[in-house]
Amino acid sequence: MADKMKTPRTSEMEFGGSLGALLLLFVMPGTVLYLLVTCNTEDASVLRLPGSWPPLETLWDPFAVVLLLSWISLQAVLYMLPIGKVAEGIPLKDNTKLKYRINAFQAMLVSSLLAGAAVMVGFPLSYVYDHFLQLAVGSGLIALFLSILLYIKSLAAPESALAPGGNSGNPLYDFFIGHELNPRIGFFDLKYFCELRPGLIGWCLINICFLVKEQELRGSPSLSLILVCGFQALYVMDALWHEEAILTTMDIVHDGFGFMLAFGDLCWVPFTYSLQGYFLVRHPQELDIPVAVGIVLLNAVGYIVFRESNSQKNTFRRNPADPRVARLETIPTATGKRLLVSGWWGIVRHPNYLGDLIMALAWSLPCGLSNILPYFYVIYFTVLLIHREARDEHQCIKKYGVAWKEYCRRVPYRIFPYIY
Ligand code: NDP
Repeated sequence: MADKMKTPRTSEMEFGGSLGALLLLFVMPGTVLYLLVTCNTEDASVLRLPGSWPPLETLWDPFAVVLLLSWISLQAVLYMLPIGKVAEGIPLKDNTKLKYRINAFQAMLVSSLLAGAAVMVGFPLSYVYDHFLQLAVGSGLIALFLSILLYIKSLAAPESALAPGGNSGNPLYDFFIGHELNPRIGFFDLKYFCELRPGLIGWCLINICFLVKEQELRGSPSLSLILVCGFQALYVMDALWHEEAILTTMDIVHDGFGFMLAFGDLCWVPFTYSLQGYFLVRHPQELDIPVAVGIVLLNAVGYIVFRESNSQKNTFRRNPADPRVARLETIPTATGKRLLVSGWWGIVRHPNYLGDLIMALAWSLPCGLSNILPYFYVIYFTVLLIHREARDEHQCIKKYGVAWKEYCRRVPYRIFPYIY
């Protein structure tokens, strides 16, 4: 019984094992820096290295770190407020369920009110644009420091609390992937907190600061920037509104909390997902109304595919007898769970990824077609989701065996109908 509770050693290493992990420790922060420095050059060309890199000492700004820590602390206080319901996660190895406070949407509303008040009283929000590089470096350092603390904490964690994917015994790999599954300080769940709050809400705050900066520079924000910020705000609000859905995702259920997620949540998401806005402040683009309408429609199509397919699966997983999904065709599996083979999940095996990618394209199009840099997000996201789909497929074959193979036979395309 005690052995059953232990997390077995990780036998299959992902991302190229410890060498891949070592490489990514440098490639991830290096990419953020490269993108931001390139975006700030005259032509923002990714085809050649930026001529002059900013001197190392200019990348460090203690005030930026103080601001970041204040922001994270504010989000931590909002997370801890006894507002919103408490939901249970999926059963752990010992059959217990962790409890999670669901109040990220309220945290977003309070943060927006505070940002609005800051604009009203003339607080210099354009500081964020002017010190974007320093803020990104500060976030990266905070993420690194947090990952080191998380790894040290994980060494004292019981065997049953370790992540199935981050228990290889190789310290570098486990540090990168995350050794402990759900590190907590009392009720405060560190991974869950970082997944949705400081970075994701911070991404919207960054966009507001870009709008303020454009207002200062050109008298009013451009239509292109308004569209990008509007689309991304919708995406973040949707994620926060459906906060509970994150409790069943790979990140919460399977992945440990280490450098990969800490850096991803605190630095990568806010500072690369906002690249289109950063680009537009430095390289303004004219947008004709008919083109803008076309882009809005494209984003709407992407959002509908993304939201409807995610909701259909979530409803089905919560209650297969729900009238909204009860008539859909399904395949039984040996685990007792069924797989949808009609509706959205009968078109491709990951309709939610398809919708997400359509939206990603709509966020880049307002930046025009003359530069590839603002298309970084859609290119990177395609690679990420293709890789994520392969990881999920691997888990599903292990979980569902022949039933999954039957699903693949009935629904042969993974993300893009008739293409992939
Ligand atoms: P999914 O929501 O796609 O979940 C995959 C799981 O769904 C499978 O493991 C399986 O789990 C279940 N499933 C798969 N096929 C079926 C089926 N036919 N019928 C019923 N259940 C099925 O995974 P993600 O967590 O990767 O994505 C969630 C959303 O988050 C997506 O929209 C994605 O685009 C988005 N996302 C965004 C990111 C970003 O950076 N912006 C990053 C990652 C994801 P089980 O059977 O155990 O329920």
